[in-house]
Amino acid sequence: MTSSNFKKSLEIMNRARAHLPGGVNSPVRAYRAVDGDPVVLRSGNGAMITDVDGNEYIDYVNSYGPLILGHAHPDVIHAVQEASKSGTSFGAPTEPEVDLAELVASTFPSIEMVRFVNSGTEAAMSAIRLARGQTKKDLIIKFEGCYHGHADGLLASAGSGVATFGLPDSPGVPAAMAAQTLIAPYNNLEAVKSIFEAHPDKIAAVVVEPVAGNMGVVAPQPEYLAGLRLLCDQNDALLIFDEVISGFRVSASGAQGFFDVHPDLTILGKIIGGGLPVGAYGGSRELMEEMAPTGDIYQAGTLSGNPIAMAAGLATLNILLADSEAYNYLNSLGVRLAAGLESAAKDIGIPLSVVQIGSTLTAFFQDAVPTNYDEATRSDTAMFAKFHREMLNRGVHLAPSQYEAWFLSLAHDEKLIDQTVNYAREALMACQSN
Ligand SMILES: *Cc1c(COP(=O)(O)O)cnc(C)c1O
Repeated sequence: MTSSNFKKSLEIMNRARAHLPGGVNSPVRAYRAVDGDPVVLRSGNGAMITDVDGNEYIDYVNSYGPLILGHAHPDVIHAVQEASKSGTSFGAPTEPEVDLAELVASTFPSIEMVRFVNSGTEAAMSAIRLARGQTKKDLIIKFEGCYHGHADGLLASAGSGVATFGLPDSPGVPAAMAAQTLIAPYNNLEAVKSIFEAHPDKIAAVVVEPVAGNMGVVAPQPEYLAGLRLLCDQNDALLIFDEVISGFRVSASGAQGFFDVHPDLTILGKIIGGGLPVGAYGGSRELMEEMAPTGDIYQAGTLSGNPIAMAAGLATLNILLADSEAYNYLNSLGVRLAAGLESAAKDIGIPLSVVQIGSTLTAFFQDAVPTNYDEATRSDTAMFAKFHREMLNRGVHLAPSQYEAWFLSLAHDEKLIDQTVNYAREALMACQSN
């Protein structure tokens, strides 16, 4: 393939760079980490997407996770169309937000009440405020390589985007804000214990991705999540699970249901919005009623609980949860893809370790299976960049960073997985030979 196959994408990106920093509205999209130019997308249908030049791709980005049904599912599109006919926003209560709150509360064991916001970033920021307000403590513990959105105090050691750019932190975050965040390596309970010991009665919360997805997919080791639960209980700190990716992806009850460890607060986003902008945070009635108007911890939003976004989320979840085989099917596709990628790499002699949990996985270009950020970053990112380009040229759309998850949807099938594995085999051979 030559650049003439991407003529329109290149033209549009040139225009984009004049008026959008880097030509994008979110940094990873710019393809800096894979040293290329992004393809500009025009449409999606099921597991497939089409760019503005008419090239087709099997999509493993799926909008970074929300699209568990694939692109443009007819029922979701219908729900959005119907909702929008009745008006786009009211700034007053509507029924769909009650429906979605009931659904979330009925599926997540630790959630009785929920507050909808407009992004995962906003949900994480608000959950932390609630934890601080309720515990009357200021410090939080987060983990290297976990991402909880881009709020000031949460950007420290924040995984994919930041990892991709090699920025340890971001300029513009006041040192005093960053100092409220204490960082521990993932999967290391001793480190968390030491931090609690060093700051007695000062730590409001531990916030964690129960399955890490933003240093690439990294699994929690057995007893890790239960160990965090215990440490929080012993130290009167809240445990916050950021399930923006894992919620409704790892299982219908998120990672908390899958691993049977219940946090005090849960942060949600992505799938619950069905591809529209949504975030949420939830927990027990007692905790959530600390928020205004029932309590005095303040958080608000003009478009929060937006009826169109609620409709997209409800349609998505209703289809997903009605199919009792959905998660088994998604996992079987994940297993098949992971096995195919590993055996192709083994045959060709390129080190590759795949971490796969259900419908999400990362193929790390290294021999070992990473258990934390330090280990994840030992991957051969130059090799990943070549692989990414070779896959794109063959019609497979992967996130343009070694440290992102691949996302499967119910629209993928065994045939597409096998096709992807065949392309991966060719791509790895091409990587090997240049
Ligand atoms: C995507 C993500 C967020 C941020 O959500 P936005 O909607 O992009 O603000 C927070 N936490 C995790 C784990 C995420 O993957």
